[in-house]
Amino acid sequence: MEKIIQQLNNSRHVLVASHVNPDGDAVGSMLAMGLALGALNKHVTIYNESPIPAVYRFLAGVQQIVNHLAPDAIFDTALILDCGELERIGDVAPRIANIPVIINIDHHVTNSLFGHLQLIDQEACATTEILHRIIQQLGVPLTREIAASIYTGILTDTGSFRFSNTNQSAFAICDQMVRYGVNPHTIAQHVYGHYSLGRIKLLNLALDSIEVSDNGKVSLMTLTQAMLLKTRTRPEDIDGMINYARSIQDVKIAALIQEKCNGNRYTNEFSAPYHVSLRSDGSVDVAEIATDFGGGGHSSAAGFGIEGTLAEVKSRILGLADKL
Ligand code: AMP
Ligand code: MN
Ligand code: MN
Repeated sequence: MEKIIQQLNNSRHVLVASHVNPDGDAVGSMLAMGLALGALNKHVTIYNESPIPAVYRFLAGVQQIVNHLAPDAIFDTALILDCGELERIGDVAPRIANIPVIINIDHHVTNSLFGHLQLIDQEACATTEILHRIIQQLGVPLTREIAASIYTGILTDTGSFRFSNTNQSAFAICDQMVRYGVNPHTIAQHVYGHYSLGRIKLLNLALDSIEVSDNGKVSLMTLTQAMLLKTRTRPEDIDGMINYARSIQDVKIAALIQEKCNGNRYTNEFSAPYHVSLRSDGSVDVAEIATDFGGGGHSSAAGFGIEGTLAEVKSRILGLADKL
């Protein structure tokens, strides 16, 4: 922590970045640090390879996020947030690897400890929980805008305070963020209350695709490109749907198989035509399973890329039930 604070204080041009297909924690993390470093008068570039999902575009500073780095831009520090591996930044990972000081702040159990300075807290419910500490250590006064980003990271990564990572800090920090002017209803409306009709129609197809293993312990949801096309939706619209498969009685592992468009949902799975998301009821460590398949994540939420036909992928996933 001390070294990270010192490095950030001494830096001049910081690249702040997070993983491709950013979730609420990734977007909240980038913006909280972008705003905090801006308040310290640092030159900051906030980078993400993917478009920012519509539901997070209400957050202050979001228009500062770029998806292109000028070839001649020089950074002294890279601040990589909510990424288990540097490769999850996407195509610019090799360029970022050459930045003199790389700071890795994350909460994934499978974090590869890349970079020069690491702050990995697997007990943290969200990366923004860790950044809340960093911002206080930096002495940056909390604003309502920073508070909204921190709150959104915690809200979304805990599944609205329902997942097993929901801890006491989640409530303590969010309580404080509300005192700094965050309105929980407004944020919830932005994040969960403005879905397109297509997304609801896609949910219908997703629910209809659910299959369950013979012993009832593994559930499987499948989303194809054809379904996205039919409902005119984007991959970001799939976020959260796996929770329906997980909420079925007796299910210990829920899986969502997602057919990928141009090969990459995550860059460390280039050639894989499917992305598989896993969720557990808390009794099974899905990060271990995902690691066996070449991916990673948290004990109750993890993912990986996989090749093969849909039938093959389905049977491998349903086969997980035999060990339960
Ligand atoms: P998702 O499958 O996108 O819902 O992601 C669930 C969790 O697993 C997130 O915390 C991701 O960071 C992590 N995760 C998903 N896919 C991968 C992957 N290919 N490699 C490493 N971590 C992953
Ligand atoms: Mn994330
Ligand atoms: Mn996270």
